[in-house]
Amino acid sequence: MRNVLVVISGPSGVGKGTIANIIKDDCNMALSISCTTRAPREGEVDGKSYFFIKKDEFSSKISTNSFLEYSEHFDNYYGTPKDFVLDKLKSQDVLLEIDVNGGLAVKKAFPDAVLIMITPPSIDELKNRLIGRGTESIEKIENRISRVQYELAKQNEYDYVVINNVLSVAVDDVKDIIN
Ligand code: 5GP
Repeated sequence: MRNVLVVISGPSGVGKGTIANIIKDDCNMALSISCTTRAPREGEVDGKSYFFIKKDEFSSKISTNSFLEYSEHFDNYYGTPKDFVLDKLKSQDVLLEIDVNGGLAVKKAFPDAVLIMITPPSIDELKNRLIGRGTESIEKIENRISRVQYELAKQNEYDYVVINNVLSVAVDDVKDIIN
């Protein structure tokens, strides 16, 4: 059986990172680590959360066609390392946790990729989660909220939509889709 490429997307703060980490372990998938030009948040580890690189290094990776896809998000760049994904896919299912633009770009390149959008029960709930996370200023949170509508509007272009109301239920829903 061929290995599958699964993309998990959704607005910031929706819990997609938590879901992706559980799925990676429980379904024995390779979780791709993206490159980003944004600064690490407290507790984030280089090479684990992301590869944190400078803008000029990111640009040179673009010019060497090293990304499967990349996009700009809040003035920072994020990209999926092509070699890692193609190499892992030879032996394992691969999971990407990327934004909607990235997800749709992956689908174009890999029509068999499975796109799963994680959505919040409501926008208010999402705002509370972002404030509760306490890693960003209110201004940045407002910025992220303004992007939520954009991301959610793309959900009908995704293969599946999973509402993250109760984490364990959302995880089971994603597992059912993958299985
Ligand atoms: P954050 O700064 O909160 O870690 O991530 C911001 C957004 O960038 C999230 O929606 C996250 O899924 C997305 N993202 C992370 N890595 C990549 C990537 O490699 N490509 C794309 N297109 N988006 C990414």
